Amino acid sequence: MSERSELVADLLAHARFLEGLDKVGVAWPPAGSADAEPQVAAGASLQGSAVASAPLAVASVGGAERLKAVRAELGDCQRCRLAGGRKTIVFGQGNPDAELMFVGEAPGADEDEQGLAFVGRAGQLLTDIIEKGMKLRRADVFIANVLKCRPPQNRNPEPDEILSCQPFLEAQIRAIRPRVLVGLGKFGAHWLLKTAAPITRLRGQLGEYEGIPVMPTYHPAYLLRNPAGKKDVWEDMKAVLRLLGRPVPGGSE
Ligand code: URA
Repeated sequence: MSERSELVADLLAHARFLEGLDKVGVAWPPAGSADAEPQVAAGASLQGSAVASAPLAVASVGGAERLKAVRAELGDCQRCRLAGGRKTIVFGQGNPDAELMFVGEAPGADEDEQGLAFVGRAGQLLTDIIEKGMKLRRADVFIANVLKCRPPQNRNPEPDEILSCQPFLEAQIRAIRPRVLVGLGKFGAHWLLKTAAPITRLRGQLGEYEGIPVMPTYHPAYLLRNPAGKKDVWEDMKAVLRLLGRPVPGGSE
């Protein structure tokens, strides 16, 4: 294909993507983003503070439909080099209308094998944090990663791989609309908070992503090597429960 035809094909594919998202109620670009067109409320004047934010969704469409559109657009993704070495795409799983969403780094061997996020040893620890610690059901939260394909030998994600995957995690968050996000480890926290500060400095400090509170905390894989960090993660999870208005186990909060 010539460069020009490739460009035209890309533009058409993107237009179909936007059309699909629009049909299921995912606003794109998000209200408030640099690319967003300001929306004016019907009957309002352009003067003063009449600029309203774009509606986030068609009320009748739920997260499941919106997520389905995102998954469909991802397809059999070949957008970066990781496609060549993966066994399965790990889209992420959980409640499509979850109030709480976790963002990790990338699938490992177990995740690549099963096509599910956080199912290996680190995943078991994350399950314990959610179920034994927070007293929530893992099935009630949503768990995804910055990358949807396993990097070879579990190496760190490369910047261009993160960029290729970025629109899909963005669209997932917009589809799910969680009330709170948790960034697991350096990559999850950096992606959500758009910072490169060390995780040791970020953890426990509430930030935000598109108006959604973000709690950065240590990655469960780090906790497997450094169990002393669990105390800090528990403090972070208690803060998350308070944000959600949920009971804090073992606390009078
Ligand atoms: N580590 C991650 O960051 N994500 C997974 O899905 C598994 C391990």
